[in-house]
Amino acid sequence: MTALQDSFGRKIEYLRLSVTDRCDLRCSYCIPKGFHDFEMPEHWLTFDEIERVVAAFARLGVARVRLTGGEPLTRPRIAELAQRLYALPGVNDLSLSTNATLLARHAADLHAAGISRLNVSLDSLDAPLLACITGRDCLSQILDGLTAAKLAGFSPIKINMVVLGGENEHEVESMVEFCMKHGFILRLIETMPMGETGRSARFVDLQAVRQRLQQRFRLIDGVVSGGGPARYLQSADGSFSLGFITPISQHFCDTCNRVRLSADGILYLCLGQEDTLDLRSLLRDGINDAQLEAAIHAAIARKPERHEFKDQPGKIVRIMSQTGG
Ligand code: SAM
Repeated sequence: MTALQDSFGRKIEYLRLSVTDRCDLRCSYCIPKGFHDFEMPEHWLTFDEIERVVAAFARLGVARVRLTGGEPLTRPRIAELAQRLYALPGVNDLSLSTNATLLARHAADLHAAGISRLNVSLDSLDAPLLACITGRDCLSQILDGLTAAKLAGFSPIKINMVVLGGENEHEVESMVEFCMKHGFILRLIETMPMGETGRSARFVDLQAVRQRLQQRFRLIDGVVSGGGPARYLQSADGSFSLGFITPISQHFCDTCNRVRLSADGILYLCLGQEDTLDLRSLLRDGINDAQLEAAIHAAIARKPERHEFKDQPGKIVRIMSQTGG
């Protein structure tokens, strides 16, 4: 079967794979406090099911897979899953998004399993403020996780910071300095109106922040490989990169190369639309591999042109951790 291309000519070569919708943090813009509406574990795809789906995507040319969630490190035996996925023919880039609270204990195993690139969410370096944003005192655990990740050999390590008006927006300069010092790539992210929590976060337009940081740190236009949504600035010697993920102020849907699989096996064709394919039902109804590939192919043809976070901010009721961030 031919490689995956949607009806707008975009090649789909990247799968974001959520392994759980649960998380040990309650970031104010993501999972609401007291939220209990998590998927039942029996609805989660099993490792065998995940392996079948990823193998099918790999046969269709999707060589890059990112484990995410929820918090992926809360799923038991995650390094074993990573090892199984990395062993699949055609998968040549396995990466992980994590909040790093559990990373210190898992870093070496995950790296040995084949995960090379790491994204760590970190919204503040101020312990009380981070606790306020995440609902938990966790800065020292995250910093220990980052130290362990460096030691284990992950490269690159990217720090993802969601910029929140009136909360951490004054901290972007110190986050730049922290990342420069430690050799991390920094990406600043605009809040997306996903669920009530995402909608109630105070949005900051990152275009002005970009100008401010470009001048202050004398950054020039740059590129970081990976084909993701961030637009980058970098230091003149190339040692530091700063990315901006701006789904609202400057969306990047025309270069979208990805789809998302939720922990319960729903393929989301766009983060900001409701178009899906229920792969779990197909798998549990006994679909064969050829039918699985055909179903994925047909779904990709339905991939929406773009999200409508700006024009229709009330549209998406699910929170980020339900889709897989
Ligand atoms: N737990 C992992 C982590 O922390 O990276 C992976 C899942 S988390 C949902 C993925 C990313 O989505 C995090 O960087 C988080 O800050 C971001 N996120 C969650 N809700 C968001 C929202 N409404 N707008 C923008 N980013 C959001």
